[in-house]
Amino acid sequence: MEVLKDRKISVYKFGNQTADGNSNMKNLLGGKGANLAEMSLLGIPVPPGFTITTEVCTAYNELGEEAAIEMIKDEVEEVIANIENIMGTGFGEVENPLLISVRSGARVSMPGMMDTVLNLGLNDEVVIGLANKTGNERFAWDSYRRFIQMYGGVVLGMKPKSKDDIDPFEEIMENLKDKREIHLDTDFSVQDLKDLVFDFKVAVKKRTGHDFPTNPWDQLWGSIMAVFDSWNGNRAVYYRNMHGYPSDWGTAVNVQAMVYGNMGDNSGTGVCFTRDAGTGENVFNGEYLINAQGEDVVSGVRTPQQISKLGSERWAVLAKVEESERVENYPSLEELMPSIYKELHGYQNKIETHYRDMQDMEFTMQDGKLWILQTRNGKRTGAAMVKIAIDLLKENQISESEALLRIEPLKLDELLHPVFDPKALKNVHVIAQGLPASPGAATGQIVFFADEATKYKNTILTRIETSPEDLEGMNIARGILTARGGMTSHAAVVARGMGKCCISGAGALKIDYKNRTLTVDDKEYHEGDWISLNGSTGNIIEGKVATIEPELSGEFGEIMELSDKYTHMKVRTNADTPKDARAGRSFGAQGIGLTRTEHMFFEVDRIKAMREMILADTVKGRTQALKELLPMQRSDFEGIFEAMAGLPVTVRLLDPPLHEFVPHQLAQQKELAEEMHISLQAVKNKVAELEEFNPMLGHRGCRLGNTYPEITEMQTRAIIEAALNLKERGIETKPEIMVPLIGTEAEYIAQEEIIRATVKKVFEERNDTIEYMVGTMIEIPRAALTADLIARRAEFFSFGTNDLTQMAFGYSRDDAGKFLPIYIEKGILKVDPFEVLDQEGVGQLVKMGIEKGRQTKPNLKIGICGEHGGEPTSVEFCYGLGMDYVSCSPFRVPIARLAAAQAAIREKI
Ligand code: PEP
Ligand code: MG
Repeated sequence: MEVLKDRKISVYKFGNQTADGNSNMKNLLGGKGANLAEMSLLGIPVPPGFTITTEVCTAYNELGEEAAIEMIKDEVEEVIANIENIMGTGFGEVENPLLISVRSGARVSMPGMMDTVLNLGLNDEVVIGLANKTGNERFAWDSYRRFIQMYGGVVLGMKPKSKDDIDPFEEIMENLKDKREIHLDTDFSVQDLKDLVFDFKVAVKKRTGHDFPTNPWDQLWGSIMAVFDSWNGNRAVYYRNMHGYPSDWGTAVNVQAMVYGNMGDNSGTGVCFTRDAGTGENVFNGEYLINAQGEDVVSGVRTPQQISKLGSERWAVLAKVEESERVENYPSLEELMPSIYKELHGYQNKIETHYRDMQDMEFTMQDGKLWILQTRNGKRTGAAMVKIAIDLLKENQISESEALLRIEPLKLDELLHPVFDPKALKNVHVIAQGLPASPGAATGQIVFFADEATKYKNTILTRIETSPEDLEGMNIARGILTARGGMTSHAAVVARGMGKCCISGAGALKIDYKNRTLTVDDKEYHEGDWISLNGSTGNIIEGKVATIEPELSGEFGEIMELSDKYTHMKVRTNADTPKDARAGRSFGAQGIGLTRTEHMFFEVDRIKAMREMILADTVKGRTQALKELLPMQRSDFEGIFEAMAGLPVTVRLLDPPLHEFVPHQLAQQKELAEEMHISLQAVKNKVAELEEFNPMLGHRGCRLGNTYPEITEMQTRAIIEAALNLKERGIETKPEIMVPLIGTEAEYIAQEEIIRATVKKVFEERNDTIEYMVGTMIEIPRAALTADLIARRAEFFSFGTNDLTQMAFGYSRDDAGKFLPIYIEKGILKVDPFEVLDQEGVGQLVKMGIEKGRQTKPNLKIGICGEHGGEPTSVEFCYGLGMDYVSCSPFRVPIARLAAAQAAIREKI
């Protein structure tokens, strides 16, 4: 501890156009803290304050509260004095009090996932001082009751734990409202607020056994530790796991002087974006409320107003509000407070130009003075991400490689999802319209509670409004629909971050949680009814709507073209059918890296012949059955080769254990026995014979082809005949025949000899030839260890990292689902190694395999075809090892193309 304390400062101050930190210190100060420091340095008016580093959070987690306080106590006292100086107020002083906020701030923004305490510093004396100083008794008491409520929830653990739990503070407020026959918080009188404070304190004492802390320093330490704790709260942990953020990052804590948007009609608060976070359009936009605090804007309780006149007019059209009513009741900030708007507009320009990226800013006007509370790179949809990167490139704000680095590869996935078929949209019944909060198309069955989002396969989470507790359900649901809330409501912001379709603020909806109904214009919809959301227009549609595949056009196409310009590593697709091959090619695949031939055998017309082959006891019987399969395989290959005309296609020989092809249920076994004119017992015996203790390590892969060479012969013949047939039609093919699951050179050679002999025979029969290659998968650790030997004969390697991971870890692919989630939850594993290549272990086998292979054959063609071939960090790793290509499922191709470009760019940096 002493070592840490001596080594560095742990508390960084900012304000009054100076700062100890800057925006490059995100890991230490968190995103919010780093940006507050930077804004202060830029001359933007931020309320003065300080940031406690993420290292202190880590120390707190490891060493506990006392040690953490000891570490920062002196520094915190010093920086509080600095805020007092700048603001001309005193912490705990009655006459002229300094009130502060305590907020979390991890290195990446995790909106709403951690805790915040506002109005800290109030007690029974200070509240009177505050009332006197501001001349606003209502404001002072309202701030005090909010403080106790927040502190009670966050620091004293009085928040409801489940949806059936009652919030003790809400209960007290509801009881008072009933008694006073009022509906809104704003209807409380000053005396009501005083009564609430009294009752709240009684509730605290009852629940915790202690009085509410009156000493501001105790309040401060309690809040700081609670924010640290919230890093390990359920919401934050879920969010971190969802995004793959490690738990050892920790959160920083930002403490700032409070400024108030709820001090009357000359005050207000809002959220704004320098560009549209949904579409990427370059328009300044956002929402605000007069006489309100920050959470009022995002909670969706009051309908916020638009910042700009243009935004306000667009909103009015969607909300069906007449122009006169808009001007009267919902004017934009631009119209209502033109000079503040102008100042804010100036800051947004300055900040975006400085950061060279779309910013999401929060501001407060206190008695006519504008304060900027925070800025951060705005969360955005996949579509906005792509458009903003291309626009900034065209505006010469960023370079091509910067534009590529701005794109999160996995987020491209959003642009690859189906969209509503415009033809189908012509005949739909639009039941209501809300705000197009996050674009996309979603069809699903209505559920009203986040924890019921898995009740049906596709669900639309339908809520009055959402809160951070709903995160998990929002992630599972296909789409999110809320009756309240604007474009910056919790639902809207979170949905955009997830790239999930969302319509918010659909005021025409009446949602009844108790009866689980949604009513619009007297028509009632129930839980389980189908609805569709068009997140781009805000239309809520009855029933299901047909969808079509998206296109790689516009800015997305531009990003893809740029990607290919920056990398030499190719991206192929894994495809077992002509349809998949065409899809992969349309996404830019430059060949097929893996065709799993076994999938073709499961189709109805083939499975019979396949089973005959398996049940045959003699070579003759097997050869007879294989003859039936040959024309089917050949026509499959023709289809695939044609879809990939001119590009290489790697076809893998049969791989899975044969028991996968035989029926295990009695009824189907009977059917098979009848079809094949053999006894049921014979079928049962064969099935029992095929049963294995460890099928994944059993009779599969090249072991099949080496024990039943006629299978390899048939498949080779089908591949080569298909290629020759296409050649006759003038279509170029580049077949690559791949032997699966070898562990020794001899296993490979045995297969290769069968393949080459068969090819020779076909060439002679047809009196024609084509170019082809024979190579192997490297997916057994022993193959990687002896790759130099295997490369003597193999013409190419393709790393099967699914099996390689299975065998390197000793985790069965089929059984890992039982323990991997627990391992990840407990932090024993950071990520699922079947999704993200384990560079430290499995990756070393890949590295060794490549080095040894190329020792023997310097130009050995090498790729990867395990699932990792479409996972960005794994793609970057493969690039670093010098692979020629990665291969992944069709919808991952664009992701891999971008990741390959980013890898090349990062290598040069
Ligand atoms: C692999 O093991 O990585 C691979 C691609 O083959 P399969 O998943 O079919 O075993
Ligand atoms: Mg495999």
